[in-house]
Amino acid sequence: MLIGEKKIERPFRWGIVGGGRTSGVGYKHRLGAMRDNTSFVLKAAAFDLDFQRCVDFGKNLCMDEDRLYPDYKAMFEAEAKREDGIEAVDIATPNFQHFEVCKAALEAGLHVICEKPLFFEIEQGEEIKRISEKTGKIVCVTYGFSGFDLLTQMRHMILSGDIGEVTMVDLRYAHGFGCDPTGDTQAEGQKWRVDPKKSGPSFVLGDLSTHTFYISELVCPQLKLKQVLCDRQSFIRSRAPLEDNAYVLMRYESGAVGRMWASAVNAGDMSSQHIRIVGTKASLEWNDMHPDELHYEVQGKPAQTLVRAMDYLSDDALEYERLGALHYTGLIDSWSNLYNRFAVAMDAKNRGDEQTRRNLVYPDLEHGIKGIRWVTKCVESADKGGVWVDFE
Ligand code: NAD
Repeated sequence: MLIGEKKIERPFRWGIVGGGRTSGVGYKHRLGAMRDNTSFVLKAAAFDLDFQRCVDFGKNLCMDEDRLYPDYKAMFEAEAKREDGIEAVDIATPNFQHFEVCKAALEAGLHVICEKPLFFEIEQGEEIKRISEKTGKIVCVTYGFSGFDLLTQMRHMILSGDIGEVTMVDLRYAHGFGCDPTGDTQAEGQKWRVDPKKSGPSFVLGDLSTHTFYISELVCPQLKLKQVLCDRQSFIRSRAPLEDNAYVLMRYESGAVGRMWASAVNAGDMSSQHIRIVGTKASLEWNDMHPDELHYEVQGKPAQTLVRAMDYLSDDALEYERLGALHYTGLIDSWSNLYNRFAVAMDAKNRGDEQTRRNLVYPDLEHGIKGIRWVTKCVESADKGGVWVDFE
């Protein structure tokens, strides 16, 4: 059980780029990172393109005004000169800025936590990998749904053979919040998402399905994706060439198959991710509207619902359990668990403790690059008319 006590000697001094007052995701980062005050403490920020709004916001968060910066370059430069300067930075800007800020952060000697989709191109991921190896600083990715305890349980049961050999991977991140085309011209957070220069080569494949793809990799680490076939549509025509709906078929090296439905125009659907892993003996199913329940269905037996925090779960699924049974968790619990692991990973890297880092399950740079590959290959398949393309 985790009740907020420190896992590392002291919390990292932490900064953030983006994530300001009007941002969609900023508060989730702060809630996740500082839940316990033993992993990260926010010391500096370049919150916003609008510097006055950055200052107003930072002051309202009781931050020191002299550590609120007009941009990330000024922040990295000034913080590097301080004895108590930041040691890690979070990148919560729109997608097109992830690469340049990440590069500058690593070169400034900072560990990085970066939003998804990580970058636009696989080559950018490889370049960041080289810089990360050279500077000895790590990159973590906020696949924010992946810290739920029952996903750890799902991984444990699949690796323990509780469902037999995996045959089918059924994934869905398909909501209806993009049905209104006026949102594309009015809402700041939506405008850039449908602009290829700012969003990258895709809309829902990158914005939504990279999360679910990572979860499939988390719970089925033994599977190796071989090929994808994608068909994508822009049901709101003005979004073309970016898709607001996509279907992807997958083939794995083992012979298992899969499918992903990613959509922002699944009208009326308020829920988001569903993950069903089917094996030769049984299936496991989880969805993020009910994250404290994992459905285990053995062929020919009554279905079971496993509940978070119960002592029949695996030790690793209980390690990050914070509330006890009978009380329910939410998205921020998942983010907090991830940020806790990010801090332990950064600390292990600083101490040269590779074993601790290797044993820690969290979305790292490799998973971020896999996410870029996922988007790249799906787009390539769709743009060739919906053909099978090799994943690697
Ligand atoms: P948004 O448009 O709502 O907010 C972006 C914020 O960044 C704004 O405050 C803006 O002023 C600021 N900003 C932009 N450029 C900046 C710069 N150069 N320096 C400083 N601040 C800058 O976008 P959002 O919805 O918050 O998304 C931001 C990122 O987070 C995207 O990459 C998105 O894919 C990701 N995201 C992830 C999740 C998740 O669950 N992990 C959820 C939502 C968004």
